[in-house]
This record gives sequence, structure tokens and C-alpha cells, in this order.
Amino acid sequence: MKFERLLFDIDGVKVNKDVSFGSITTMGVGGKAAYVVQPCCTEALEKVMRLCDAQGVRRKAFGAGSNIIAPDNGYEGVIILFGRFMSNIEGDKSRVVCQSGAKLSMLAKYSEVYSLGGGEFLSCIPGTVGGGTVSNAGCFGGECSQIIRRVFLTDGNRRTDMTAEELGFGYRSCDLPEGYVIYAVEYRFERAYYDVGERIRRMKEVKAKTQPVNTRCAGSVFKRTGEYIPAKRIDELGLKGLCVNGAAVSYRHAGFIVNDGTATQKDIVELIELIREEVRKQDGRELTLEVELLG
Ligand SMILES: Cc1cc2nc3c(=O)[nH]c(=O)nc-3n(C[C@H](O)[C@H](O)[C@H](O)COP(=O)(O)OP(=O)(O)OC[C@H]3O[C@@H](n4cnc5c(N)ncnc54)[C@H](O)[C@@H]3O)c2cc1C
Repeated sequence: MKFERLLFDIDGVKVNKDVSFGSITTMGVGGKAAYVVQPCCTEALEKVMRLCDAQGVRRKAFGAGSNIIAPDNGYEGVIILFGRFMSNIEGDKSRVVCQSGAKLSMLAKYSEVYSLGGGEFLSCIPGTVGGGTVSNAGCFGGECSQIIRRVFLTDGNRRTDMTAEELGFGYRSCDLPEGYVIYAVEYRFERAYYDVGERIRRMKEVKAKTQPVNTRCAGSVFKRTGEYIPAKRIDELGLKGLCVNGAAVSYRHAGFIVNDGTATQKDIVELIELIREEVRKQDGRELTLEVELLG
């Protein structure tokens, strides 16, 4: 039977066709995704994964799309979108289990309400539990791997779970096994004997002052390597404001590329290459990407 008909036939998923990547990524570039599918539970998620795999249709998990720069010519496949559904947060004292689509900022809010410490930094990252795990997101000295106990995965046929050690976290990375999707994550917090909310407010203030948080962007474009901070060097090299059509190096934070609303993935890729070329010339270094170029 035709793929589309079988997809619409799965209970517990919301299916949309020809969805603009502008509406599901924070950078807001890219063409259309053939299908965006939002599962309401793990069983429905697995049915979608099995169907895609059986019919040879590409699939890609998406959280808030805050680390992804989407392709201009679109995506002939299924975007499995977590966020609106599968976003429960359930706690038992310091042990908290979240479904993949829960916003990291909601988890920070939860930790504030229950006086749990160590996850304040999550309030400053506009991603989800699934995406934050994959990229081991972090800031202000914290990163997700420090508070993750266990990650729950499925490949559509088989469920498994892995400890943080087994998942091999690195700087903004982890070794997610091929073909698997994260459906839940267990965190462990410390009891906080200080005002968690106050710490969150201070972090958010710093973030809003130093980063273009209300502009279309996808966070830091390049990874740090040890003491080498790309944003600092890009600033020193006078590259703030450098642009290719609607894509520009942010004046507020040289590590960010912002989209004025007219940029394409091609513009961003060209701008990235200009920056890399200048850094190569001046410092003899190869910058590696923190953002993900899809396609
Ligand atoms: C204004 C701004 C500020 C930012 N600041 C920071 C910061 O301080 N620190 C930082 O680390 N990052 C930062 N980022 C980048 C981004 O928010 C993080 O990388 C975030 O963790 C991405 O989460 P997401 O849900 O948006 O993932 P997405 O961008 O949707 O996806 C990222 C990757 O994870 C995969 N993925 C998503 N969900 C799942 C799942 N359930 N199972 C398997 N794979 C999945 C996707 O396939 C993709 O490969 C910032 C971004 C913006 C726009």
C-alpha cells in the first residue's frame, strides 16, 4: 500500500504534509519537509519508525529545531517532531524522567519549583530533552551529561536504555547508536539549599545581554576547542556584521549567524566558509561546526 496512506492510518500521530522548515527551526531557513509527524506516545513513534524503515523512507528526529540549518531544496522524508506531544515531566524527589519533547526550560522550571539544583543552565537553552541530549547542550559551566542518569532509546523494533557513560558524551556530542531515537531521559538533581529561581533569572539576564536570543539563529555556529574560542577570534578578526545576503555574523555575539528573514541555507554555508577561510589564514585552524547542516 502507498506510504502516505499507511502513515495517515497510524493511530496516535499527527501528520502534516509539505511543512516549511521556517516553522519548525529557530534559524528559519530551508524548503519544505514532505511529512512532519508528531507521535503522542512511544508505541505510535515506533510504528512510524517501522513504516519508514520498511518502505525505505528517510526519517529524522526533531526537537525544537534550534541547532539545525535546513536544506533549501527541502527534505523528501519524515521529520519526527517532538515537542507538542511526548513532553511529560515526572519526578520522584531528585529523580526526574522526561519525555523527549519536554522543553529544557520547562525542566529548569520544574527544578525551581521542587528546589532541585544543578540544572539552572537548562533555562537558557531553547531546545528539548532529546535534542539537548544528542548535542550534550550546555552553558555557564553546566552540560546535560552532568545531570543525565539514563537515556531511553528505540529503533522502532527494540527498546533499550543506556547510562550517561555508555552514551559516550563529549563536548556538544554523544554516540547515539545509528537508527535509534531517544524517547525519554532520566535526570538526577541535587537538593538545592539556595534560591534556584534567582540563579535562573541571573543566567537568563546574562544570556539576553550577550546573545541574539530574539533573532532567527541556531546558537553557536562553531565548537570551542580547548581554550580556543571561535566567537572571540571572529570578533578580534573584525568579522562581526560580515554578511552573505540575509545571513550575517551577529553584532551581539560573533559566534552566532543571524537570519534577517531572507537568508537561505546556501547563504549561511557561504558565510561559514568565508569565516573558516579567514580563521584558516590567520590562525591556521580548522573550525568545526556546532550547528547541524541538514541535507
Ligand atoms: C538563541 C539560541 C541559544 C542557544 N544557546 C545554546 C547554549 O547556550 N548551549 C548549547 O549547547 N546550545 C545552545 N543552542 C543550540 C540548541 O538550542 C541546542 O543544541 C539544543 O540542545 C538543541 O535542541 P533541539 O531540541 O532544538 O534539537 P534539534 O535542533 O531539533 O535537533 C538537534 C539534533 O538532535 C537530534 N534529535 C532531536 N531530538 C531527538 C530525539 N528525540 N532522538 C534522537 N535525536 C534527536 C536531531 O536529529 C538533530 O540531529 C542555542 C540555540 C539558540 C537558537
